[in-house]
Amino acid sequence: MLCEMCGKDVPEVSIVKIEGTVLRLCPNCAKFGKVVEPPPAAFHAPGRTPGLSKGPRRSPMEEKDIFTEMPPLELVPDWSQRIRKAREVMGLTQDQFGVRLSEKSSVIHKLESGAFFPPDAMVRKIEKVLKIRIRAAPETS
Ligand SMILES: [Zn+2]
Repeated sequence: MLCEMCGKDVPEVSIVKIEGTVLRLCPNCAKFGKVVEPPPAAFHAPGRTPGLSKGPRRSPMEEKDIFTEMPPLELVPDWSQRIRKAREVMGLTQDQFGVRLSEKSSVIHKLESGAFFPPDAMVRKIEKVLKIRIRAAPETS
């Protein structure tokens, strides 16, 4: 390609702005203006592309990805009814169920009325004791 300033035939030119005029210039002439677009070859030529700041910023992103990959704990809409039904099927009173969960019966009462959202650990306990699922299972199967 020909440099629009000196007319020299160069393999690649830079898009350079000089005094409001955009010109395609050889590397020598490009120094006189402001490069608005480096030659495309610069992006593809191996070894010529500067490292930039992409490398070190990746690791925190990856850590975050691990978190987002974990399925969120989502209780099914009728979780409190499921607990009560399963408890009754097993023939447990709220007190007896509370003992198995290591929770007060007042907590069980709140659970079954939907007034108290069980934390993650308690959800797992409930599911284990009653052999039910009260979380929306991720549709993987
Ligand atoms: Zn030139």
